[in-house]
Amino acid sequence: MPLAIRHLIRETSRETLMPLGNVLRLAMSVPAAFDAKSGKVALVRAPDLDLNALSAKRRNVIEAADPGTPLATAELARRAEVNASLIRNMVGDGNLLRVEVPENWHDAEGLEFRAVTLSPAQAQMADIFKAAVRTSAFQSLLLEGVPGSGKTEVYFEAIAAALEMGKRALVLLPEIALSAQWLSRFRERFGGDPLVWHSGITGAQRRRNWLRIAHGGAQVVVGARSALFLPLTDLGVVVVDEEHDPSFKQEDGTLYHARDVAISRARIEVCPVILASATPSLETALKAGAVAGYNQATVETKYCSLPARHGGARMPVVDLVDLRRDRPARGRFLSEALKVAVQRTLALGEQSILFLNRRGYAPLTICRACGFRFCCPNCSAWMIEHRFRERLICHHCGYVRPTPEFCTECGALESLIGSGPGVERIAEEVAALFPDAKIAVMASDTVRSAAAATELVSSMQHDEIDILVGTQILAKGHHFPNLTLVGVVDADVGLTGGDLRAGERCFQLLYQVAGRAGRETKPGQVLIQTHMPEHPVMQALKSGDRDGFLRVECEERRQGGMPPFGRLAALILAGADGELVKQTGRRLAAAAPHDDNVRILGPAPAPLSLLRGRYRVRLLAKAHVEVDLPTWVRAWLAHVRIPSKVQLQIDMDPVSFL
Ligand code: ADP
Ligand code: ZN
Repeated sequence: MPLAIRHLIRETSRETLMPLGNVLRLAMSVPAAFDAKSGKVALVRAPDLDLNALSAKRRNVIEAADPGTPLATAELARRAEVNASLIRNMVGDGNLLRVEVPENWHDAEGLEFRAVTLSPAQAQMADIFKAAVRTSAFQSLLLEGVPGSGKTEVYFEAIAAALEMGKRALVLLPEIALSAQWLSRFRERFGGDPLVWHSGITGAQRRRNWLRIAHGGAQVVVGARSALFLPLTDLGVVVVDEEHDPSFKQEDGTLYHARDVAISRARIEVCPVILASATPSLETALKAGAVAGYNQATVETKYCSLPARHGGARMPVVDLVDLRRDRPARGRFLSEALKVAVQRTLALGEQSILFLNRRGYAPLTICRACGFRFCCPNCSAWMIEHRFRERLICHHCGYVRPTPEFCTECGALESLIGSGPGVERIAEEVAALFPDAKIAVMASDTVRSAAAATELVSSMQHDEIDILVGTQILAKGHHFPNLTLVGVVDADVGLTGGDLRAGERCFQLLYQVAGRAGRETKPGQVLIQTHMPEHPVMQALKSGDRDGFLRVECEERRQGGMPPFGRLAALILAGADGELVKQTGRRLAAAAPHDDNVRILGPAPAPLSLLRGRYRVRLLAKAHVEVDLPTWVRAWLAHVRIPSKVQLQIDMDPVSFL
């Protein structure tokens, strides 16, 4: 294991308080890769081929496939100027043979950068990035720019600069499995594929990819969180795209924040890290000095911003629809204003997105006769109706039951109604309103594989869908030229719940969704339905006043001593014996060292006080920024014995407060 990875594991363990072994496991996610047998496979031409029996394209491939130098599929495809699929067909047809090559053999991937002509503003940013890469020093750079401003094109330049120096690049994307558009853009610019790493790839592929990385064969690796611990040497640049995305925080098992680990990794590798986003997290924005009036800039974070959309496409016009005035009929969720807008968009032959960040049909199933509400038996949460699948599902533990035909409490028949909307219900409403429109639903449980997502995105791009109804998975990165209307069905969804970052998140998410509209020549329109049009988040979205919003948000956090002006550690206790869990919580709080700079909040029942059949209690340590909180918590815990029937989970810098 490279020394850098060992450093990274130690540092991550120290910062997150996760046992070393747990973090180590992240780096050794491919046990089979440590087997002695590690030959690689490449292609050569089959002997005794009748060249005249082959098509011209196939002949080109055979000519490029010199028997003396086995080539990887991508490289062979590049040299013969054909698609990789043809190569694979030729292997199937016996034109090409697979051979084992020695283990230290390097893939000649031959990525070759073909830049687009950058605008002056883009070129200026690209120059800064290239210079940072060439300096081979640690530095973090924030690249902020509205969706469509060309951030991806600009950080591609930094990757190209690293490749030019014979170095490698690591790119982190949220939910990479769904980013086929990103991959095809990469292919267009670099004439080859990056190595893809995420939880969706299968065992054999995983092992192959891991070996290729370990042997210096992958020039560019793009992946989700877990890619951070790959044994990729000679790193020239690390990129974290959509750096604000909450999915970078791993919430299961080993709790770490991929953005923070990426910064650590770059520091250890002594290379720059580029954090890109249209809506940077407050943490990053402050470090870069990007919030007017808050001069927190650290010397090591440089702020770079792209002011406008590429090609002069304008930002969409955002309007708020006050649901208290323009009130949809009972059991309906689209206002008159939104219906008219969809109608007009359809008439123009353009596309609409209706966004609602809630899966399923209805978030709550109620009995009209007795008022009974269906609740998960394992969690303190409602069961969500999924009408397409005829199931009630708990979104926390996955508990599933068939949708009942009568109330299990009072026995009344046909008394059950769904309360509130989910995307499936919106799709139903839209289908009734616009029977001739082509409608599709995009949510993580209706689009269950990367291939299905790619297909849906592609039919949207090819104008085979008029109205796409979906959750946050459609907010990310997609570029749909004919999409001109974005309707947000219920903007208030994320604002309730008292989460520290609720406002920030809501703004980021809706800003991203809004950014899908009018990305090319046709102007875009965004309609946001809300019960709170006066809320600072809604006002900021309407006026596009990101700075003003961040200033308000900063001021609130500063006054409350909340991150990034203070630091938090959450301690979550869970166990089957509720009384014992509570008691342990009280003992833990009582054992906290006295310190003017650290306050202990709780114990309090967690918002999900019952999860997967276990009772949960939370404590929060809130510290002054100067306190070394991981060390402080370690010292605290050293004095307390936690009963074996109670589990303690430590969440440094928590993102979720459930
Ligand atoms: P962002 O990452 O900021 O959302 P992208 O890099 O995806 O922006 O750019 C948006 C669209 O504009 C893409 O289709 C991209 O290829 C195109 N684009 C951006 N800059 C240029 C440029 N200089 N020349 C040609 N096309 C560009
Ligand atoms: Zn449950």
